[in-house]
Amino acid sequence: MKFCFGPAVLRLISLLLVVALVLCSRPASAQGSSPAETAVVFYADAHVTDPIWAPLFDEFQAEVNAERQEYPLPEHFKLIRATTLATGQGFGRIVEVRLIGRCDVAEQAYRPLPHGPLGWVVRASGEIQPFIFVDCARVAQYLGPSTRGLNENQRRAAMARAISRIAIHEWIHIETQSDRHESRGIRQPELSSHDLIQDLIHDQIGVSRIPGGR
Ligand SMILES: [Zn+2]
Repeated sequence: MKFCFGPAVLRLISLLLVVALVLCSRPASAQGSSPAETAVVFYADAHVTDPIWAPLFDEFQAEVNAERQEYPLPEHFKLIRATTLATGQGFGRIVEVRLIGRCDVAEQAYRPLPHGPLGWVVRASGEIQPFIFVDCARVAQYLGPSTRGLNENQRRAAMARAISRIAIHEWIHIETQSDRHESRGIRQPELSSHDLIQDLIHDQIGVSRIPGGR
């Protein structure tokens, strides 16, 4: 189950996190930027390991390319890890993606989680802010039954695809400045594990190939 806008308290906490994020670690200025380019900057838990990044960015790019005709996303964008940003590096516009918890580990110890969203954005002063949150621990537990029997690389690819689709769903809210949903596809109000990774699972079984896998 996925809900884009969490409870009010969660939203308040998220907003405070966003404000802290902006004040403490705004990564780039407009100086020297590419006016037409949007930077999608990913922040992750310090323990998240390198192998997730290539599959995650591959999946993200492939999903946007596949859906561009249908979804209103910028034509020019760049995916960047916050840790690789250089001083003075700038872009015309920045969308930040905060990955909460271990996004590189699909099989995580089960812990009871209260009902809540897999991803969300924050509306402040009437505007949907350019900050996306993805709860990776919740995603891992949500996908758990669907990823049993997959090897480590395959599970990582499943996490990468799920995270990408959740983040893109939220990014569309930002770009359209709308909380509108659709009855089918990535813009559904709730994305099932089937919506998130079933085509990838089918690829594993059907042709033993992992799109974006390493
Ligand atoms: Zn939504």
